[in-house]
Amino acid sequence: MRTIYGFARPWAVMLLALPMVVQAQARRMEGPIETVAVRDNLSMLVMEPAGNVLVSVGADGVALIDDQFAPQTTRIIDAVKVLSDQPVRYVFNTHWHGDHSGGNGNLADRGAVIIAHDNVRKRLTEAQFHLAIKARSAPRSAEHLPVITFNNRMTFYLNGDVIDVIHVPHAHTDGDALFYFRNADVLHTGDAFINRGYPLIDVASGGTIAGQITATQAMIDLAGPDTIVVSGHGPLADRQRLIAMRDMLITARAEVRKLIDRGKTLAEIINAAPLQNLDSEWGIGFVKAPMFITIIYQSETGDWETPEAMPDETPLAE
Ligand SMILES: [Zn+2]
Repeated sequence: MRTIYGFARPWAVMLLALPMVVQAQARRMEGPIETVAVRDNLSMLVMEPAGNVLVSVGADGVALIDDQFAPQTTRIIDAVKVLSDQPVRYVFNTHWHGDHSGGNGNLADRGAVIIAHDNVRKRLTEAQFHLAIKARSAPRSAEHLPVITFNNRMTFYLNGDVIDVIHVPHAHTDGDALFYFRNADVLHTGDAFINRGYPLIDVASGGTIAGQITATQAMIDLAGPDTIVVSGHGPLADRQRLIAMRDMLITARAEVRKLIDRGKTLAEIINAAPLQNLDSEWGIGFVKAPMFITIIYQSETGDWETPEAMPDETPLAE
């Protein structure tokens, strides 16, 4: 079922998926941020074209889930001031990508505690490569690093709500966390769910198609009929949208797998257009069928390697 949230503006997923390129784009983002009241004390800062930030306000202080690229910190703080007179106390990163953790250093300098999965901290300390977009990210300096990390799950009691933080392994990356606010019935998925067509799984950061399917099922299991789903990028969604995503992922994987099992090469599989029945609904973002097929192929076969040389910035592909 197509939900009311639908999807449009495919450039948003394109940009979120291009960490280094987005950095250049994000620097151009100016002016007040559009703020959407999600439910209860939760608001979403719509940082198009570079993604969503969730804000929790209340007696315990301000908590952010994700914090964008560093040049956006001032705009974020200005938007938070409209919601609360308290400083940002906690920052959670849903994963390591720069459009979700780039403000860590600025916010830590202002007293925030940065919290993320073990693998987020690990990846932020090392150079990273993004196969699909052929871009490189340099290691981060110490002030950017999470000071509290977790392995499987943890629970926060904050601003009158109980927040379950759940690691989903090998989804968009190997360090993705879901955030479920039990009382508000709001689920923040980070980029483990992007509400913009085919997902961009970061294979070089430990993401896989199998893990992506498992993670999407975990979201469906957490969500109820009234749950509001905040994705890493794109409009608000619901459980039905997650189910549609899971079903598409299962079909796409099976179609590509069939051809891998027949001994086809990646080029032959792309030529065979195994996702053509899905393209009209899902191929509307940055990730077109050839890229998604490549991601599935690399993830299923393990047949990829980190290029020896990779530029820090790559021109936009479209
Ligand atoms: Zn990401």
